[in-house]
Amino acid sequence: MRMLQGFALSLVVSNLAFADDIHWTYQGVGNPEQWGKLKPDFALCEIGKNQTPINLVENEMIEAELSAIEFAYKNSAATVVNNGHTIQINYPQGSSIKIEEKTFNLVQFHFHTPSENQINGKSFPLEVHLVHKNDKGELAVIGVMFDVGNAHELLDSIWKKVSSKENEEIKLDQEINPMNLLPEEKNYFRFNGSLTTPPCSEGVRWFVMKKPLTASLEQIHQFKGWMKHDNARPLQPVNARPVLK
Ligand SMILES: [Zn+2]
Repeated sequence: MRMLQGFALSLVVSNLAFADDIHWTYQGVGNPEQWGKLKPDFALCEIGKNQTPINLVENEMIEAELSAIEFAYKNSAATVVNNGHTIQINYPQGSSIKIEEKTFNLVQFHFHTPSENQINGKSFPLEVHLVHKNDKGELAVIGVMFDVGNAHELLDSIWKKVSSKENEEIKLDQEINPMNLLPEEKNYFRFNGSLTTPPCSEGVRWFVMKKPLTASLEQIHQFKGWMKHDNARPLQPVNARPVLK
């Protein structure tokens, strides 16, 4: 970063073009410590006070009567894309959740290794984020952790279609149902946060399932192989935010 700033001071004009060309990454140039400076639009990554991920510490949370999330997920054909930052499954319209009197449509889900959020200081080898959007454009993300254990069937059907070629969108062989990405017991932690990738926009409703699923070591290794390195943003300060359990 120091080198970049030095470069900026001596070559202000060309640095603007240069900075604009820097893509955000997880390692090396453009890494999470630099996200907030890569573009004005990414400023919240640095100055935001409600950023995700966080460490979800149960004995610091507020006890609340959290209502159950109502799931209306359907079997659907979907596509998978390796976008270079994650493996993302784009889901067609028609599946939604209802929570806090609002309906959010499932747009996509994707994975991080290791987990971005932590539970009581524990990092998990994999976390899935199910991203939902309502008619106003507000986001609700459900996070689910994976422990190492039995292979996950749905991951298998997705993994076998993943391309190591970036941005190639591939149709899955069979219809899938994201209900399979939820633990049987659907209790959750609730907090307000952000996107965990630039532009780190805030106002995202976060629901992290208390119970993990399992994936096999082989499935996790395969995912790491496509990513070539970790794709998890470091923990962010909780600041004044209440986290509900
Ligand atoms: Zn994510």
